[in-house]
Amino acid sequence: MSPTILSCPTCKATVEWSDKFPFRPFCSQRCQQIDFGGWAQESFAIKGAALLDPEMLDADQLTKELLDAGLIDPDLLDSEG
Ligand SMILES: [Zn+2]
Repeated sequence: MSPTILSCPTCKATVEWSDKFPFRPFCSQRCQQIDFGGWAQESFAIKGAALLDPEMLDADQLTKELLDAGLIDPDLLDSEG
């Protein structure tokens, strides 16, 4: 009996639905984190928008919190000072 074959949602690599791929349906932990990171940021943004008064929102503080929580990759930040 051959195992189920699927595609990694992040990079489309072939993933076997077996213990060979502990991060299935992702091919690797990296791809799992990329996908989760995207989801978490989106979720956080929605929550933040609902809970925070935009006038009270400190972008730098929010960025720092997201970084501390590991929800965003510092390399992705386009910092200009
Ligand atoms: Zn992948």
